Amino acid sequence: MALQVDRTPLDPIAVCAWPGGNSAAAAALRPLIEEDAPGTGLEPDRLAEHLIALARRYGTEPFTPLESARRGLGLDRATFARVLAVFHRTPALRTAVERGPAGMYWTNTILPLERRGVLDAAVRGEPAFPYSVGLYPGPSCMFRCHFCVRVTGARYQQSALTDGNAMFASLIDRMPTDNPHALYLSGGLEPLTNPGTGDLVRRAAARGFKLSLYTNSFALTRQTLDRQPGLWDLYALRTSLYGLSEDDYVATTTKKGAFQRVKDNLTRFQALRRERRRPVRLGLNYIILPGRAGRLTGLADYIGDLNDGGPDRPVDFLTLREDYSGRPDGKLAPEERVELEHGLAAFEERIRTRAPSLHVDYGYALQSLRLGVDAELPRIRPETMRPTAHPQVAVQVDLLGDVYLYREAGFPGLQGAERYVAGRLTTGTELEEVVRRFVTEGRQVAPRPGEEYFLDGFDQTVTARLNQMETDIADGWAEHRGFLR
Ligand code: SF4
Repeated sequence: MALQVDRTPLDPIAVCAWPGGNSAAAAALRPLIEEDAPGTGLEPDRLAEHLIALARRYGTEPFTPLESARRGLGLDRATFARVLAVFHRTPALRTAVERGPAGMYWTNTILPLERRGVLDAAVRGEPAFPYSVGLYPGPSCMFRCHFCVRVTGARYQQSALTDGNAMFASLIDRMPTDNPHALYLSGGLEPLTNPGTGDLVRRAAARGFKLSLYTNSFALTRQTLDRQPGLWDLYALRTSLYGLSEDDYVATTTKKGAFQRVKDNLTRFQALRRERRRPVRLGLNYIILPGRAGRLTGLADYIGDLNDGGPDRPVDFLTLREDYSGRPDGKLAPEERVELEHGLAAFEERIRTRAPSLHVDYGYALQSLRLGVDAELPRIRPETMRPTAHPQVAVQVDLLGDVYLYREAGFPGLQGAERYVAGRLTTGTELEEVVRRFVTEGRQVAPRPGEEYFLDGFDQTVTARLNQMETDIADGWAEHRGFLR
């Protein structure tokens, strides 16, 4: 069964980073670069080949240093610089990179950060207000997922809630409002275990922030919604789904009865948002665990069942990811790949009938797989972690006000995580000051083995990008560092 990938528009240049896209693209590109060719010292056909090779390289391997790309083309530095200049004068080639198999790295993460200038600030060691601020308000979690790094039994004291919520409120009140998506609520532990989460949402929404809440939805009961009406001011509610049956849920979370309870909660939430005419978007996050790809039609049916309860307000989106964590090189074995391709094809067919309006975000790896290319996932190791981290790009704040440098470090009692606290927010200490001090005092955290697990996919992408930029600058390519920006 073939995967259905939307490849429109079929402009041959725009799709030249896809497998097999080269020859038609070269013919379409030639008239566009004919006049530029003499200035590069290359024949037009040769120049077109190099430009397409570059689009393909950066459309599939976005973290390639420029010197590697140059050596790959076999060009001297002066000619390579001229080829880069032509590339940047040809918008269709930029589109090709952004639409390539790894294009989501560019469009979802790298380019939005480039537009805010926070990557440059991180490379230069200059302070900047973080582009993204995660609030981790949950004092505990009712699940014990087998892959979660949280320490069993470790939780924040209930007595921390009052001061913690006051600290979050003050942070929200002082956030610059020029980026409506700057704030999100997640964990760390489960955000809905904090009875003040709804108030924080309402407070942030009143200042124009579009908050997403990441939750397991076990506590998304009618009582919670009645007691925390501010939850209706969310921009999006994202539920991490831990399986498609009671057995899956017990195997993953160890919590009995959770599968049906979460499904009931989501069904009720969907009916209520329709009844109350609330614009909050409802979405699911689902990780395909090894061996479970064959059951993806069950996921389509789960979403279809939810939609049956509210046909005019169907589930808005699904974030689908594949679990690469157990593979040393981050690559799928051939048989796993085939299983996943079949599972995805069957899933897409079922979605077309049961949830046709659903927006599916496949993420970098699955999107590459759908396009028939092996994904290059950044694999950050302790030796490639950055001792200065990237607080200009993102920080996470827990209930105690501790400002964490990486998204998977904000759990109480997690060994070594305290080394990744940039400072603590208190009354009188603002986030801007914590970041400024960390950066201007030149503080560094020397990574130790195992600490790469404090980085989630976003942190890994940012780290790979910053390392790439630094390599390009050190190689004398400051003007073109990072290829696209
Ligand atoms: S992954 Fe989330 S839901 Fe599961 S145990 Fe960890 S914090 Fe709780």
